[in-house]
Amino acid sequence: MNINKIIIDISEKNHIRLTHQRKKVIEILISNSNRHVSAEDIYTLIKDKDDNIGLATIYRTIKILEDKGILIRHDFGNGEAKYEFVMKEKEKHDHLICKQCGKIIEMAGILPENLNQKVLKEKGFYCKEFHLIIYGYCDECNNVRVNQSVHSKVKY
Ligand SMILES: [Zn+2]
Ligand SMILES: [Zn+2]
Repeated sequence: MNINKIIIDISEKNHIRLTHQRKKVIEILISNSNRHVSAEDIYTLIKDKDDNIGLATIYRTIKILEDKGILIRHDFGNGEAKYEFVMKEKEKHDHLICKQCGKIIEMAGILPENLNQKVLKEKGFYCKEFHLIIYGYCDECNNVRVNQSVHSKVKY
């Protein structure tokens, strides 16, 4: 399926009126659905393609897509909202963030599938949404850390 068809499908299904700008923003989001992009990233990526769409328009489009539930906003803690397009085929996942290099690793199946029911049953709380972020060190950074602490043990 080509990207044009996908965009038309998505907009029809979600009742989004397609304008040239919205189409561009969705196109960028789809072609980068394997990463997490900020509004600024979208702006730059569109500009790289020799098109120019103002940040305000990008924010408005993001808001529409977010309201429709097809775009997820993440706050990874550096004050900049990152967005991720939810493709049907893409599994729901959570995020592991390396405190050293900032790498974001995606992982599915950390939380139990029945988390909503569990919260409701135990606390009578209707869980609407949740985001799990686990902070730590990626394999590479952890190796460096371990090596460093070995050295410092030898030294002192
Ligand atoms: Zn790292
Ligand atoms: Zn993600």
